[in-house]
Amino acid sequence: MNGHHGTALLDLSGVKKTFRTPDHKERTVLEGVDFRLAEGEIVALLGKSGSGKSTLLRIMAGLIRANGGTVLYRGQPMTGPARGISMVFQSFALFPWLTVQENVELGLEAQKVPRAEREDRAQEAIELIGLGGFEGAYPKELSGGMRQRVGFARALVMRPDVLLLDEPFSALDVLTSETLRGDLLELWDERRIPTKGILLVSHNIEEAVSMADRILIFSSDPGRVRADIPITLARPRDTESAVFRQIVDEVYGLMTAVARTGTAAGEAITIGYRLPDASPGKLASLLETVAEPPFNGHADLPALAEVTELPDDALFHLYEGLRVLGFARLAAGDIFLTPSGRAFAEADNDDRKEMFAEHLVRSIPLAAHIRRVLEERRGHRAPEERFLQELQDYLTGDEAERVLEMMIAWGRYGDLFDYDYNTGLLELPEDEEEDEEGDGEKPPAADAG
Ligand code: ADP
Ligand code: MG
Repeated sequence: MNGHHGTALLDLSGVKKTFRTPDHKERTVLEGVDFRLAEGEIVALLGKSGSGKSTLLRIMAGLIRANGGTVLYRGQPMTGPARGISMVFQSFALFPWLTVQENVELGLEAQKVPRAEREDRAQEAIELIGLGGFEGAYPKELSGGMRQRVGFARALVMRPDVLLLDEPFSALDVLTSETLRGDLLELWDERRIPTKGILLVSHNIEEAVSMADRILIFSSDPGRVRADIPITLARPRDTESAVFRQIVDEVYGLMTAVARTGTAAGEAITIGYRLPDASPGKLASLLETVAEPPFNGHADLPALAEVTELPDDALFHLYEGLRVLGFARLAAGDIFLTPSGRAFAEADNDDRKEMFAEHLVRSIPLAAHIRRVLEERRGHRAPEERFLQELQDYLTGDEAERVLEMMIAWGRYGDLFDYDYNTGLLELPEDEEEDEEGDGEKPPAADAG
């Protein structure tokens, strides 16, 4: 906290948002979202990609409307874009033909602020965020970090009451993002900006723990807040200290617990289950890492993150993949290989493929479904369109495509089915087809077993 007290800046209750899928069905992206941003706090929102975080931010900024629930800004219902609220995005669309100064002034121009005042305020924002001397530069002359500073200057020039940050550091390299985060925190902690509350969407646990007074964990399908973790350490925080590491550990634990209750848990998953972004090659290599020393089948997630040097959200997709396939268990911020996970790590390539296929058919209804359709169909082929349409009952178009693409990668790895990129047909693998060739019109089921 930076000394302000408790008045609600943003107050959301029971917020719901639905979008229409391409075939005109409704899909609920957010449901029952309760959230409060108080004066003086930085809140970080962690969650998987696709869980609705950006949608929630756009609702808070008044850029889109919720379908249900209430959204209050300083006690007043949100009616449209709110003047006191500014956003910063992952990549800031700067106008390449405008200088830094002109880019920063844009928002003020839209508000018809007179020229002299515009120039003064832009100058002030540019100085604050460490861009002094670059007023006349064009975006293409700047590094990624400097461009993102222009993004921040564009938000700060509005002297925002509330800053909504949508993964603003995630496109930057580690050092650059650390510096920019530090600079922003300094402005905040020294109260050199009038901003009274910050909401930061992040997919980086360390980033969230190093910045926030409170971390919220968001779960998907539909998105809602599942955990609320206060962090009372003074800033700047020593990321190597035992207490910092302990909080990081705790958040990891909660993230994995939420991933379990949020998507699959022990309950049966459906055809619309969103397969994680986890290629078979990466799954196998992570599994090997956990199987080998120093982990020997049981790893602390932060330690694993350090060894693999993969970003948290990529790792969470891999954990989810290993878990849903039954190769690993997750508990309290640790990952454990199951007996079949260990067996997989020790197997040769052919055995691995076979085990993978077995687990796939058993655990992933979509895999079993595709396999069944191909077995039953004459010619053992089916157009991908057919499965895409089925998936669109559960997922938006892009997400359906992503899930099917991942399913195909998993299916091919396990030799469960094949995919012809030229025709867009899914088919049984060739060696199996040959077995059945000449069987003519006979229902293939008769040959099975
Ligand atoms: P996140 O920021 O957590 O990655 P988003 O809020 O961007 O998630 O998206 C959540 C879900 O809502 C995604 O499945 C996305 O495809 C869907 N979505 C977002 N905006 C729209 C839109 N304008 N129309 C249809 N679907 C959308
Ligand atoms: Mg987003």
